[in-house]
Amino acid sequence: MISRKISENLGKSSWIRSMFEEGEKLRKIHGAENVYDFSLGNPDVPPPKTVKEAFRKLVLDEDPNLHKYMVNAGFPDVREKVAAQLQKETGVPMSAQNIVMTVGAAGGLNVALKALLNPGDEVIVFAPYFVEYLSYIDNHGGKAVIVSTNLDTFEPDPELLRVKITSNTKAVIINSPNNPTGVIYSEDVLKKISQVLEDKEKEYGTAICVISDEPYNKLVYDNAQVPSVLKIFKNAMVVNSYSKSLALPGERIGYIAASSRIDEIGLLMSALIYCNRTLGFVNAPALVQKVIGETLESAVDTEEYKKRRDVLYNHLTSLGFKCAKPRGAFYLFPKALMDDDVEFIKRALKYNLLLVPGTGFGCPGYFRISYCVSMKIIENSLPAFEALAREFR
Ligand code: PLP
Repeated sequence: MISRKISENLGKSSWIRSMFEEGEKLRKIHGAENVYDFSLGNPDVPPPKTVKEAFRKLVLDEDPNLHKYMVNAGFPDVREKVAAQLQKETGVPMSAQNIVMTVGAAGGLNVALKALLNPGDEVIVFAPYFVEYLSYIDNHGGKAVIVSTNLDTFEPDPELLRVKITSNTKAVIINSPNNPTGVIYSEDVLKKISQVLEDKEKEYGTAICVISDEPYNKLVYDNAQVPSVLKIFKNAMVVNSYSKSLALPGERIGYIAASSRIDEIGLLMSALIYCNRTLGFVNAPALVQKVIGETLESAVDTEEYKKRRDVLYNHLTSLGFKCAKPRGAFYLFPKALMDDDVEFIKRALKYNLLLVPGTGFGCPGYFRISYCVSMKIIENSLPAFEALAREFR
C-alpha cells in the first residue's frame, strides 16, 4: 500500500536508530548502567526552572485566545519578542514581520526548503552533516549537493564550494555549532563563503539563500562566539529551535528569521507562512510559544556539558585519538582507529560502547560521540575506550 519511495527509504537503515536498537539489546543483557550509549542527541539536562514555572503559570491562564487557532506565523507578541532578542544578539534590525514560529528546527527547515525549491534545484550541504537534511531536501523535490569540509578543522573550504555551485544552486545549509563535529565556523570562513556566493550570483544572475540551522547556538564553551549569518550574508535565513538551548525537544518549538536585506522579503515571508500552513503544521504549538516568549533570556546549564566534553576529550586524546576540539553542541567527532568506521564501531560494541559511524554523517573514517549522558556513564565508560584503543596499539 505504501509509496515505493517511502518503502525504499524505510529499507535504508538509520545508523542512529540501529545503534539505539543495538543498545536496547545490550541493556537487557548487561543492565542499563553497564552500557555506554553515546548514540543519541537527546538533551539529558532538565529545562531551566524558569521554563517549568512559565509552563505552570500559563497552563492556568484564562486568556480565551490561548488555545485557539492563530495567524499561521505564530502569536504576534511572541514573534516581536523573538525578533527583539535576535536584534539584541546580532545588532541586525528585526521585527515580528521577519519571524515565523515553527514546529522545531526540523519544521522550520522543511518550511524554508518548501518555500524555496523548484524541482531539481540544488541545495549545498557541507559534510559531515545532520543526515536528515538529505530527506528534507528530497521532501521538496530538491537535490542535495555534498561538499566536504577541511578534515583538520571541519570548516567548509570556500574554494571547494565555488566549484560546486551551478546555475541550479538555490540554497546552502550551514550548521554551526555543528552536529556531528561541535565545530563553530569562523567569521573569516563565513565571509569568504559570502564572497563566493556573491560572485556566483553575479555570474549566473541567481539568488542563493543561506539557511543557517542553529539549534546549538546557545551551547557554546570557552566563551566562543557564534558569528551572526544575518550580519554576514545578504540572503540569510536563520532556522532555530529551543530543543537544545532550553532542553525542550519534545515540545517542538522553533522559528525562522529571514533577513530584511533579502529582495522581495515580503513575498518570501508570505511563502514561508503559506508553507507552514500547507505542510500541515498550521501554526507552532500555542502554549509553548507563550512559554518561549516569557523565557527568552533562559538557557540550560552549559557548564554541565562542558565538564563532560572536557573529560571525554582529554581522555580520548590521551589515548591517541585525533579529534578537533569542539567549542559547541554536545558532540565529539574523533577519527576512528581504522579506516573502516563501521567496523570500528562494531568493535566498540564488544566493550558496550555505542557510537555512531561517520558514514552516517557523510564522513567515513570518523565516529560521533554524543555526550548528553550522565557524568557517571562517562566516567564508567573511560576504561572501555581504553580497552578499545589498546586493540589498535
Ligand atoms: N538540526 C540539527 C543540526 C540537529 O542536530 C537537530 C536535532 O538534533 C535538528 C536540526 C532538529 O531540531 P528540532 O528538534 O528543533 O527539530
